[in-house]
Amino acid sequence: MTALRFTGVVLPEDDPRDLYVVDGRVTYEPQAGAETVASGWIVPGLVDAHNHLGLDDDGAVDDAEVERQALADRDAGALLLRDCGSAADTRWVQQRDDLPRLVRAGRHLARTRRYIRNFAHEVEPDELAARVAEQARAGDGWVKLVGDWISREEGDLAPSFPAETFAEAIRVAHEHGAKVTAHCFGREVLDPLLDAGIDCIEHGTALSTDQLDRMAAAGVALVPTVMQTAKFPAIAASGQAKFPAYAATMTELFAHRREVLMSAHEAGVAMYVGSDGGGPSRHGHLAGEALAMAEIGLPVADVLAAASWRGRAWLGWPGLEEGAPADLVVYDADPRTDLAVLYRPARVVLRGRVVA
Ligand SMILES: [Zn+2]
Repeated sequence: MTALRFTGVVLPEDDPRDLYVVDGRVTYEPQAGAETVASGWIVPGLVDAHNHLGLDDDGAVDDAEVERQALADRDAGALLLRDCGSAADTRWVQQRDDLPRLVRAGRHLARTRRYIRNFAHEVEPDELAARVAEQARAGDGWVKLVGDWISREEGDLAPSFPAETFAEAIRVAHEHGAKVTAHCFGREVLDPLLDAGIDCIEHGTALSTDQLDRMAAAGVALVPTVMQTAKFPAIAASGQAKFPAYAATMTELFAHRREVLMSAHEAGVAMYVGSDGGGPSRHGHLAGEALAMAEIGLPVADVLAAASWRGRAWLGWPGLEEGAPADLVVYDADPRTDLAVLYRPARVVLRGRVVA
């Protein structure tokens, strides 16, 4: 097999060098007769930290659509997907060398009739721990809880489960070797989850500075999904007539969105870049999320690190060191100065093969 050669700046380092790909792996040992593929800025394969392969608006999709979703993400440079809950069984994706690497959370666990229809296993408190054990066994080291959602009885956002139920669920997941993350829009759900030792918060629009300090100290990650939370005004508008308190809550959360994100950054919380592709969003839009995070005020360099090498390290994958799997994206311009560059990969290399 002919070695491939890429020239340029290999991020996060600064100096130009030659990177070779041999048998699917990275090497910096010069390879005689290597075929030069591209030159530019060479970035470790991007990470979509909040993705839903296998979902669309109505629930699970068929395998052909899963493939289209995965290819859209891949061709946009997202070579490692952290699934945040899917109603489809996507385990087969992991057998396909041409599709992104996938870390699955199994299926969302929500309270009965308290989530998007057809997405989650919907359970009552006494069933949650058993379902968590099942999903921990079915997934790749993560379990996804729907932490809060609108309660039609209360007319407002409310935690899905009592604090002791969350605590038991997290204890059972950890016992099974799985980490736990939760969808959290509102305030009330956060302390019970942090008290119980949750590993990551999705969205997290109501996090206080105290809670952010706790997260930084305990190494709890945050995936803010800025493109998703940008929809809060629309959610508020559509709920206004029937659920005015809920509409007011969503409006208030939106108003403090930037402040929360900047406080998270200042507190030193580990943040990652999640497109929320699948469900109500489309696939292949990781660049849009990175740009949205930067537009809200996060430093470009941090967003890029989170979308690439830092995100990979978080999920247990290396960057582009000697011997690492050759998952990389080449750009014609430096994404550290302009994240819009991420929209235009010049070459995408997955498992050592040029795929786009
Ligand atoms: Zn999501």
